[in-house]
Amino acid sequence: MPLLVLLETRQIIVYELTHKYKKREKDKSLRRIGGIINMPLCCDCCFNDQTLKEFIKEKAKKGYCDFCETEREYCIVPSELQDLFYPVVNLYAPVAELEPMKGEEIGYIKEHYEDFLWEMLQKDWKVFCSNNSEVNEKLIRTMFPNTEKIYYPSECLDSHVYNCFENQTKYFSDKIRYKNWWKLLTKEIKHENRFFPKIQKWFLENPDKLFSFCVKILDEYSIFYRTRISNISRKFSCDEMGKPPLEKTINNRGNPKGISYLYLASNENTAVSEVKPYINDIVTVGKFIVNNELSVIDLRNPQIGSPFKYGEELEYYIENLSLLKSLDSELSRPVNASRNELDYLPTQYLCELIKSKDYDGLIYNSFLGDGYNILIYNDNKLKCVETWTVEVKNIKHEYQKVDHRLLVLDEEIRDLYRIRDKENE
Ligand SMILES: [Zn+2]
Repeated sequence: MPLLVLLETRQIIVYELTHKYKKREKDKSLRRIGGIINMPLCCDCCFNDQTLKEFIKEKAKKGYCDFCETEREYCIVPSELQDLFYPVVNLYAPVAELEPMKGEEIGYIKEHYEDFLWEMLQKDWKVFCSNNSEVNEKLIRTMFPNTEKIYYPSECLDSHVYNCFENQTKYFSDKIRYKNWWKLLTKEIKHENRFFPKIQKWFLENPDKLFSFCVKILDEYSIFYRTRISNISRKFSCDEMGKPPLEKTINNRGNPKGISYLYLASNENTAVSEVKPYINDIVTVGKFIVNNELSVIDLRNPQIGSPFKYGEELEYYIENLSLLKSLDSELSRPVNASRNELDYLPTQYLCELIKSKDYDGLIYNSFLGDGYNILIYNDNKLKCVETWTVEVKNIKHEYQKVDHRLLVLDEEIRDLYRIRDKENE
């Protein structure tokens, strides 16, 4: 007779899932674990997100959805969605982790974030169909029943959370994973490595991945406008409205000196505003027609769509999206007289990167007009078909009082002043 020795008492964790959910006597396809616990089911209609819906439809069976509380065609055990949810959930971390910058009140920071994980998922990505926070909470908790196994802190389900990839410059914590790639890239291109920057390898090696959701096709016969100030009161001809001759190109946000691009606008008003005329200036407007479909990168509002499509690369997409947004705002920002020539380098670099991937150009917001701007690398797919002149009758200036010292300085120097001012407070 062998001797049995009890080495230690084992703690048995009982998941009290069943009592929370409605019993499904009618449902014959109940999933059971050890023949005891009925796992609740969710369905494709519980989610708003297209990737999740498609995934569920592929894997699911007919059943009773415990969250919609109705019979559905496509039902699945929520924990089967864990792998899809991990990278998205991993964007968030418990507020308790945050540490304040010197002088910041920790209480303020904690008050600033008052959303739970399921609420952030709904706010940021519209993941769920229902806006009922209780239903969504139940769904997430059912999806991650054993929090020890998941690789984000288990407090994530019991604490308010923050997005680690948001620009939260106020909160100086090493827990924030956001990196201001624009600032880092700018610094490197301006002062360290101009043509072969090392920073942000993922983006520089995978630009197509990121550009893929910003591609816009400009159809044949689309109409755009370009303007030139007519110093003498004469109208420029169509032939004179193309991109500037090489010897006349100057350093610009999109093109370096010596390389000529065609800058157009989506409407006449924007084209006139962008040339920054004075009152009584005569401006020639040229109308351009697209004669061969153009494939351009639209920087105006790049969105990655469903976050569940990217797996482990999701973080890269999110970080690099901010780079494209910065490119848009830099291109849109009007040039002011005090600008340093070096400031053009980062935008020129990224415009060149887009060109190297065989796109015809890019679209960016207009700061001065009500339409948008287009930069075209090669003008042989457009033709100027008509020109006319306009006289500028009025220019509206809006302004506000600012610290003059800050106005004239470069962003990096402004930061230095801010830090010094903070220290002197
Ligand atoms: Zn459902």
